[in-house]
Amino acid sequence: MPKMRAAQVPRPNGPFEIVEREIPEPGPGTVRIKVQACGVCHSDSLVKEGAWPGIKYPRVPGHEVIGIIDAVGRDVAEWTAGQRVGVGWHGGYCGHCDACRRGNFFACVLGWVTGITFDGGYADYMIAPATALALVPEGLSAVEAAPLMCAGITTFNALRNSAAIPGDLVAVLGLGGLGHLAVQYAVEMGFKTVGIARGRDKEPLARKLGAHHYIDSQTQDPAAELAKLGGARVILATVTNGEAMAAVQGGLGINGTLFIIGAVGSLAASPLLLLNGRRSIKGWYSGTSIDSQDTLGFSVLTGVRSMNEALPLERVTEAYDRMMSGKARFRVVLTME
Ligand SMILES: [Zn+2]
Ligand SMILES: [Zn+2]
Repeated sequence: MPKMRAAQVPRPNGPFEIVEREIPEPGPGTVRIKVQACGVCHSDSLVKEGAWPGIKYPRVPGHEVIGIIDAVGRDVAEWTAGQRVGVGWHGGYCGHCDACRRGNFFACVLGWVTGITFDGGYADYMIAPATALALVPEGLSAVEAAPLMCAGITTFNALRNSAAIPGDLVAVLGLGGLGHLAVQYAVEMGFKTVGIARGRDKEPLARKLGAHHYIDSQTQDPAAELAKLGGARVILATVTNGEAMAAVQGGLGINGTLFIIGAVGSLAASPLLLLNGRRSIKGWYSGTSIDSQDTLGFSVLTGVRSMNEALPLERVTEAYDRMMSGKARFRVVLTME
């Protein structure tokens, strides 16, 4: 039997192990992907640390996957071998539960998550449900496309589903892996874009990404500064810090919305602020495979790109530690070839 390499987590808080496995065969409704690149996302720590309930170990993480379909299972009409595809966090949907029947495919009762429910992209091959596949356009390399499957879709899809229209003031809180993409998308969508981060030293980056304004949350009051600019229609919080989120809510304009895309334990909201200005705080689920496809297409159209550090699969431990250290500029991507 032909073999492949996979980087698996043997148990919660166990080390990565690079093991040889048989190349799996695709079952009904799935395809096999020859993986070219896979991004390393902070959410992979849920597998590494055992923080997601019900994970079966050993488990191969990875939900920013780009590769080529090389085998197609039964009952898959719409995909063929040779197509270049991506797989993100959303691991597919059934199409007939109540949530799916209402068009809320993201909330499918199956609750499948790539690299958590089934093995992900830290491997030479993976099996993916057909409903989890996004077609990857020409014009993006595998390394370029991979981070767009989670960091990209999460920010792009939140912004395009917000109430902001071109010319509106939109602020991005945090300039890391998610934030550096969010600023670019906001600019390309025609929003008056404000970058908010800690320290003056981040300003050149914000400007380079196209931000029209920069607020240093260490020396300035971000809420007051946003209010001076007229108040934000949308603030996209890409940080995982409840206090930093709470500190910007006063910068929302009338009917403004604080979009939460990073999980924090708790967040102190100001009810008076919310009701007086009809403001809101809203969570946003990244999206499904067609949203990923739209993210990739928009990125090709506009030139939005993630800044990446690429490492070969063998260096998975180093890649993961680099991501967890917060020092990566800005996304870490594993390559298989
Ligand atoms: Zn992710
Ligand atoms: Zn469903």
